[in-house]
Amino acid sequence: MLTDLHVHLRPDDLDRTAAEHFTAENAERYVETARERGVGYLGVSEHIYRFEQGLRIWDHPFWRENGQDDLDRYCDFVRDETELRLGIEADFVPGREDRTANVIEDYEFDYVLGSVHFLGSETVDMRGEWDVWGSRPDPDSVWRRYFETLGEAARSGLFDVLSHPDLVKLWGDGAPRPERDLRHFYDLAMDGIADSDVAIEVSTAGLRKPVREIYPAPAFLEMCVEAGKPIALSSDAHVADDLAYGYDHATELLESLGVDRIATFDHRRRTLEPLG
Ligand SMILES: [Zn+2]
Ligand SMILES: [Zn+2]
Repeated sequence: MLTDLHVHLRPDDLDRTAAEHFTAENAERYVETARERGVGYLGVSEHIYRFEQGLRIWDHPFWRENGQDDLDRYCDFVRDETELRLGIEADFVPGREDRTANVIEDYEFDYVLGSVHFLGSETVDMRGEWDVWGSRPDPDSVWRRYFETLGEAARSGLFDVLSHPDLVKLWGDGAPRPERDLRHFYDLAMDGIADSDVAIEVSTAGLRKPVREIYPAPAFLEMCVEAGKPIALSSDAHVADDLAYGYDHATELLESLGVDRIATFDHRRRTLEPLG
């Protein structure tokens, strides 16, 4: 079994509308591409901040700008007009755990991905106004905050999968990087991860970013595997052609760590399937 459960039906740009992309034809393109590439479990997971309902969680200006679509309509569309599994990519917003749970529980998702994109009001994965690197901070403090927040996200119990677990590295040499052994930072997340029942995403999206590496780094993945965490495999595709992108590299990495099963979800119940 190969899976792709971290998938978006449209690119992140504001002008890519739901009306244009949440269509049976577009969904069918994804289904066909997945079939061609041997992906047996396919789901979509749009960003929660692109829905009006996301504003019940957080009224950050970026969320206000993006929160234009209706979550009910998205869920009905995926269930009624496509063969796709229904997921959501929810941000971990510290202090807003109850609000996040309230929104998530209003819907019958197959799975909920948990992502750390924001540290305070700043983002680790976007250039521009909210870029955490804009104020030239000390890289150690950004990496420390990122991995502490990731551990809290795991511990919150809100999520079935922890997405792109070392997203903070995505700019590669395009952002300052700590000089010390990165395992020091991974360790900051490990207590929360070890205490949780969350699956760890292996995402090939990093191969398409400036860092040109799978998320997470092998050393971090190894720590998660040793802690007994299940693995979920995804591409974070935003167009059909990126589905299962670079999976040869991902399966090689997983096999090298002795991982032979990957997670699928049905109404938030996890099953492990043989990898490959
Ligand atoms: Zn993300
Ligand atoms: Zn995503």
